[in-house]
Amino acid sequence: MQHSTRIVKLGDIQIGGPEIPVIAGPCAIESFDQFFNSIQGVYQAGASAMRGGIYKMRTNPQSFQGLGQQAYPIIETVKSDFNMPLVSEVTDPRQIELMMPHVDMFQVGSRNMYNYALLRELALTKKPILLKRGFSATIDEWIQAANYILQGGNDQVVLCERGIRGFETKTRNTLDLNAVAYIKQHTNFAIVVDPSHGTGRPELMLQMSGAAIAAGADALMLEVHVKPAEALSDAAQALSLGQFEQIMNSCRRVAKAVDRYIAEPRKLALQKSKTHFNNQEISL
Ligand code: PEP
Ligand code: MN
Repeated sequence: MQHSTRIVKLGDIQIGGPEIPVIAGPCAIESFDQFFNSIQGVYQAGASAMRGGIYKMRTNPQSFQGLGQQAYPIIETVKSDFNMPLVSEVTDPRQIELMMPHVDMFQVGSRNMYNYALLRELALTKKPILLKRGFSATIDEWIQAANYILQGGNDQVVLCERGIRGFETKTRNTLDLNAVAYIKQHTNFAIVVDPSHGTGRPELMLQMSGAAIAAGADALMLEVHVKPAEALSDAAQALSLGQFEQIMNSCRRVAKAVDRYIAEPRKLALQKSKTHFNNQEISL
């Protein structure tokens, strides 16, 4: 039985309606130029919302951990130019207050899906929440985690399938499209699909993005970097702007086949704040 989808608002866009918004941007915000140029590219290709990590959950403690508070002035400048909502991961309840004015949707990462203290705190914010599936979580555990947020008083929750860990080594994770079809058939959660973490391989993302839409995805999340090889996190899976544009074109056709749509490309990108930002202020 197909349920009616709980529509979640993200700025002016809706997740769970006929439009399939695409959330795109780099894994992490690294500098003003890197974020501005990446977002300008995805904006022109038709993305509806931007992503960019401020606080990163890295496996290796020596790896780049995100700009933290230094990202906020960058975010505000880029937002004023492109007027797109920002989705960004919160890794610790102590970050919530700082992030509140800058972030439009809180992402709960795969590693934190079971962090019920974090989920309870997020329920109190009333901001939309994107709950990623734990990489070893069953569908049931994932739904129960979402219920923590609902029962805490926040009904603005979307689920995000980002791949699960299996025995396969050719791909980073196994994108579980069974889960997408299941969520659509048996729950009323809107579901976002993240083929970036789900495959870890840019050359597979066009097919898997289309497959996700065919399976019922309500939105896509993709990692895109203006200079993929130079990305400070998740470089191997970062899409170039050209690859992203191709994916968008292909997904528009798939969306149409399932009576949905993806926003058209935009011709003009504003550059009004670019010259006013002093990139030297950021020190890594
Ligand atoms: C991310 O979106 O950059 C991320 C860390 O995702 P996940 O929690 O799915 O690994
Ligand atoms: Mn990432």
